[in-house]
Amino acid sequence: MAISGGCLCESVRYTCEEEAGGGHCHCIDCRKTSGTGHCSHMIVPEASFEVTGEVKFFDKPADSGNMVNRGFCPNCGSAVYSTNSGMPGMVFVRASSLDNPEDFRPQMRVYTDRAASWDKMDTSLPGFARMPAPEDMPAGIP
Ligand SMILES: [Zn+2]
Ligand SMILES: [Zn+2]
Repeated sequence: MAISGGCLCESVRYTCEEEAGGGHCHCIDCRKTSGTGHCSHMIVPEASFEVTGEVKFFDKPADSGNMVNRGFCPNCGSAVYSTNSGMPGMVFVRASSLDNPEDFRPQMRVYTDRAASWDKMDTSLPGFARMPAPEDMPAGIP
């Protein structure tokens, strides 16, 4: 199943072939770039991710010290995807940029201790106060 998406002005477009999992992140950096209380990330293998158009990146280290490179459209400002130096070979697509938002199937919530009280989420999804260790993540998260 081909998944597609892009920014609001459509100068950045992407396709990817598979979804490897994903979740919601309530960290401060995600909140500040989201327009709401969290970011929703769909994780896909970089090898299947093809993007066209100019993407500008803002780089900021996460708590872990890993560098997070947040890509956005320099024309319309939409967040499109990010990469993380701690997870090479993976791309974190913003679920907000999907053409069909139903392509995203969130599996967990992270940084729940930083969630705003008004940002109510699906509590049937496993929640973690911080970023869990890889072995603690739900099955299917790379
Ligand atoms: Zn744009
Ligand atoms: Zn985050």
